[in-house]
Amino acid sequence: MTRPKPTMEEITALAKRRGFIFPSSEIYGGINGFWDYGPVGVELKRNVREAWWRDMVTLRDDVVGIETSLIMHPGVWRASGHVENFTDMMVDCKTCKKRFRADHLTSDQCPSCGNRTLTEPRAFNLMFRTYVGAMEDATSETYLRPETAQGMFVDFKLAYQAARKKPPFGLAQIGKAFRNEITPGNFIFRSREFELMELEFFVPPEPAEEGLRWHRYWVDERLRWWHSLGVQPERLRRHEYSGADLAHYSSATTDLEYDYPFGWGELEGIAHRGCYDLTQHVEASGKDLSFFDEESKAKYLPAVVEPALGVDRALLVFLIDAYEKEADRTVLRLHPRLAPYKVAVFPLVRNKPDIVELAAKIERSLRPVMRTVFDDSGNVGKRYYRQDEIGTPYCVTVDYDSLQNNDVTVRDRDSKAQVRVSIDKLEEHLRGQL
Ligand code: ATP
Repeated sequence: MTRPKPTMEEITALAKRRGFIFPSSEIYGGINGFWDYGPVGVELKRNVREAWWRDMVTLRDDVVGIETSLIMHPGVWRASGHVENFTDMMVDCKTCKKRFRADHLTSDQCPSCGNRTLTEPRAFNLMFRTYVGAMEDATSETYLRPETAQGMFVDFKLAYQAARKKPPFGLAQIGKAFRNEITPGNFIFRSREFELMELEFFVPPEPAEEGLRWHRYWVDERLRWWHSLGVQPERLRRHEYSGADLAHYSSATTDLEYDYPFGWGELEGIAHRGCYDLTQHVEASGKDLSFFDEESKAKYLPAVVEPALGVDRALLVFLIDAYEKEADRTVLRLHPRLAPYKVAVFPLVRNKPDIVELAAKIERSLRPVMRTVFDDSGNVGKRYYRQDEIGTPYCVTVDYDSLQNNDVTVRDRDSKAQVRVSIDKLEEHLRGQL
C-alpha cells in the first residue's frame, strides 16, 4: 500500500528540527535558493552519493569516475551552446514586481497579485558570471558551471586513453552546479546551488539503433535503482519527450518523474544527445576528440547517452517517500543504505556508570563497521522517537540484565519489534539486517 503523501511543510519542518537541512545564512534573513546540510543531512547526502557511485561506477566494468573543475575556459560554454541558449523565458509583473518563468504560467494573469500586467517574455541566461584574475573585463569573464557534463566532454580523449576504455563506456561525475533560477522553490527541489550526479555513456554512433537500445537500457536501469532503494513504484513514472519538446540534437529523451506533494515533476533526465557535444567541441577547439579503435582501425566521434540527476532532488524524494505519520510517532522508512545512522546505542539509564560504559563500549566497537550514534538524553521512548524521525533502522539498548547476561535489546524501526541479542553476536546480527 502506498504511504499517504506528507505536505512540504511537514518535510521542511522535520528537516530543520532534526538537522537535515537549514536555510543558508538564516541569521541574515536567508538567501533564496541556497541551503545548508546539518549533521544528519550530510550523512544522508553522502549515502545518496555513495549509493549512486557504487551502483553506477564501482560495481560496473564499463564506467570510470572523473572530477573536473567548477570554473572552466569560457570557450567551453560558447561551444556547448550555454552562452546563447541556456536561458529560461521570464516575465515580470508591472504591478507587484514579481518575476515568473513564462513556462510555469497558466494564464495571462499574475499568479501573485492577479493583475493582467505581465510583460512580454524575455530570455534570461541562468549561468552565474564571474571573473578570473585581477582584471574584471570581458577577457576575464567566465561562468560557474551549470552542469558537470561539459567537463566530461572536453576531457573525453584524455579520460578514455587513461582508462584504456572503448565505447560503449561511461564517465561519471558528482559535483556542484550553479543555476541562477528565476523562481527557485519547493524547498531543495529547485535551488540555485545544487549537486549533480551525471553519467556520460559513450556509444559507437552506428548503427543508430544501438544508441537507442542503450538509451532504453539506462532508463530501465535508473528506474531499477530507484526501486532498489525503496522508492514506491506508484510514485514514479516515465515521461517520454517527442516532437518539438525534444532538443534538436536528441533522438530520445526520457524523464523519470516523481509524484511530489506539489504534483508530478522531474526527478531525473535520461537523454540521448547524439554526437552533438563532442562535435561542438571539436569545431570550437580545433582539437580532434575522435575515438580511434586500434583493433578495427575505425575512427569516430561517439554518441552519448546521459542519465543526469540532482543529489539534492534525489534526497528530497527519499525524504518524502520515506515519511510516514503514525498515531504515536513519525517515522522515516529510509532504506538502510541511505539511513544517516545505521544503529543508535542507548544506556537504559544515565546514572549507572556500568551501563553507560558498556553502552559506550558497544557503540565504539561498532563505529568502524557502520555509522553509529550514542544517545543518553531523555527516556528511552523519546530516544526511539528521535531515531524513528531520522530513519535509524536499529536501536540497541543496554540495561541492567545486559550486565548479567551479556546481551542487549535490539529494536527494529519499521516493526518496533524487540529481540534480545548476545553482545558477542551483535555486529553479525546487525550486519545481517542491514
Ligand atoms: P527544469 O526544466 O526543471 O529547469 P532541466 O530539465 O533544465 O530542469 P536538467 O538540466 O535536465 O534539468 O537537470 C538534470 C537534473 O538535475 C534534474 O533532473 C534534477 O534532478 C537536477 N536539477 C536541475 N536543476 C536543478 C535545480 N535548480 N535544483 C536542484 N536540482 C536540479
